[in-house]
Amino acid sequence: MYYNTNQWNEVRFMQIRQVKSILMMSFLLFIVIILFKNSPKEQAQALKIWDIEPVSVNGQWEFYWNKLLIPQDFHGNLKHQHIMVPGAWEHQNVGGEQLSNRGFGTYRTQLMIPQRDVGKQQAFQFQYIASAYRMWINGDEYPGLGKVGRTIAEETPHMQKSIVVFEPKTTNVEVVIQVSNFSFRDGGILGDVSMGPVPIIVQSMYVPAFLSLIQIGSVFIIGMYYLVIYYRRKIEKDFYYFGLLALTYAMRAFFLEEYVVNLFFPTIPWIFVARIEYLSNIVALLLLACFVKAMYPLDANYWYVRITYAISLIFCVIILFASPYVFTSLLAYNGAITVGILFLFMIDLSMKVKKHQREDANLNMLSVFMLLLVTIYEVSNYIWTFSDVYMLDIAFFVFILLQAVILSNRYNRMNENNQKLTEELVILNNSLEKKVEDRTLELVEKNEELSQLQRAKTKMLANIAHDIGTPLAGVITFLQILKEGKIKVDTQSTFQDLIEQVKYVQYLNNDLLELSKLESKKLVFHMEELKAASYFSSVYERIRLESVTDAVRIQLGHCETTIDEKDVYIIIDQIRIRQVMVNFLSNAIKYNDSIVKEITVCWHVHYHIEKKQHEVIIEFEDNGQGISAEELPFLFDRFYRIVEGNIEGSGLGLAIVKEIIEQHGGEVGVKNKEGEGSIFYFTLPAVIKA
Ligand code: ADP
Repeated sequence: MYYNTNQWNEVRFMQIRQVKSILMMSFLLFIVIILFKNSPKEQAQALKIWDIEPVSVNGQWEFYWNKLLIPQDFHGNLKHQHIMVPGAWEHQNVGGEQLSNRGFGTYRTQLMIPQRDVGKQQAFQFQYIASAYRMWINGDEYPGLGKVGRTIAEETPHMQKSIVVFEPKTTNVEVVIQVSNFSFRDGGILGDVSMGPVPIIVQSMYVPAFLSLIQIGSVFIIGMYYLVIYYRRKIEKDFYYFGLLALTYAMRAFFLEEYVVNLFFPTIPWIFVARIEYLSNIVALLLLACFVKAMYPLDANYWYVRITYAISLIFCVIILFASPYVFTSLLAYNGAITVGILFLFMIDLSMKVKKHQREDANLNMLSVFMLLLVTIYEVSNYIWTFSDVYMLDIAFFVFILLQAVILSNRYNRMNENNQKLTEELVILNNSLEKKVEDRTLELVEKNEELSQLQRAKTKMLANIAHDIGTPLAGVITFLQILKEGKIKVDTQSTFQDLIEQVKYVQYLNNDLLELSKLESKKLVFHMEELKAASYFSSVYERIRLESVTDAVRIQLGHCETTIDEKDVYIIIDQIRIRQVMVNFLSNAIKYNDSIVKEITVCWHVHYHIEKKQHEVIIEFEDNGQGISAEELPFLFDRFYRIVEGNIEGSGLGLAIVKEIIEQHGGEVGVKNKEGEGSIFYFTLPAVIKA
């Protein structure tokens, strides 16, 4: 299916609207879950189905370091120390001894349960025991996690939330747990231990897992949304990194939060889960750097990002190939280094962004700084464990919220721009159509002109052939008759006739030659600057001498003008301009049937507004036969003659005149006079030197 720009925009907006509503819903879910998960009290209230709550079994337990004991070993007075559950054994002072994080030992405690619970199924819940355990309740062994060992080779680590179901026979419950740790950075029972009726324990474990699942789903959809936008507009690199960041967060949560992954893959090896979880931490920080860089590509210092890449790469290799003990111990250092670099990067960047006043700079910097600060807090808490409060979830949520505001701002701006561009395009399209129309019209006109020229050329050739052919045919006929002696001819007048005919051909030939030279600009003009008044009076003088007879009366003079004729100068070839004037004058006499031929020649100056210059106009007014309106436009064309075959003319005179005048920068023209006769004129550019 094809769409035009507007339809495509519509479709895209509809799709975006749909995705946006899904996004909104995911987002709301995400908020609800975050709030819910982070307020255990309210959550417990809301979810309370039974009166009974799980009982905490945290506290001082008996501890046997470097011993793997079974219940039968506990008789007599076995020497033991006490240890705090939960807590890493290397962080505790056990009998004045500083324990190593790697090693093994046995935990033991004895509990009193109410009589009502005797004979009813109960369950223990363990949050986190590193890195493998084996357990007995009242002497019976129950399945633990992984394989406890005395050396790293003997141990198979496995860590996840676990539930152990048992049925107490008396009110006394003895719990013995062997723990070994050679695979994790901390050793021992690290998370809470609680006990209660099976449904309550199951609920307290699966409800948070379920909530986490929804949270993971929401973030996943948000990530996918931005990746889809990026897929459509490949230019927005920041959408891409933001999408990947959200997906990485979702993946991390899938493998870490409440051990959701174990709901789906119960037999998945812990080492694999641990590697993915730690990798996702590193990748998330790297993506954060890339995201910020993509948002401000002109301001970001790429060196910080490159260093982050390098460090992340080293740690990725470590996580992929080193033992879990090594990489779980190193994570804190990686976090500290990367966050430190990112912090410097952000400070440097925010200063530049502020300076260049980038769009949404404050909000953006605020969101990234907030996320970084919380990451610093989390990393420190990981190293020194000073608080139970984890804030990365909330920080990430606020980060997404702020980014959503920024990106939707950006989207709005983009849409506005889009709209504007579309409108401009429509206008451009219209004007383009108009242009094409104009050009086509121009082409049609040019085409018409060309075919007219072609017709004129054909006519001209026919004229030449005719004008040369007619006298030649006459000459040949006479010569033929003479040769054959068929008729007697008056030799004198016949020869005179023949000479006239041949002279005409010669005259025609000269005119043609001159015109072709003029048209191909081969005729050299001898231009000089002359005073118009003196030039015209000298020409008038000659005209008077040569042309005035009884039958021809010529008035020569200066037409009315406001400019003093003394100041007017013209730049001309005087012989050629005289030729023009003689041609006009002889035509005025030639095409005049009046008994007394009256001709007026005058010149004047005027200012041509469009050409922004002065010009001299010379007019030839006669009382001759005049010219019909239809013939007027063609008089200056080559071979154009009103009376064809007139021996006295070639039809080239006016064409030559036109060519000479145009090469002087002037114009020629003719108009009909009221009554009888016509007015021929030509103009020449003039200079006024006051
Ligand atoms: P030709 O050699 O025939 O005179 P021109 O080019 O000088 O050629 O003139 C072209 C035609 O214009 C003439 O044949 C004539 O019919 C017409 N013509 C020129 N001048 C005048 C005029 N003053 N009055 C009437 N017709 C004229």
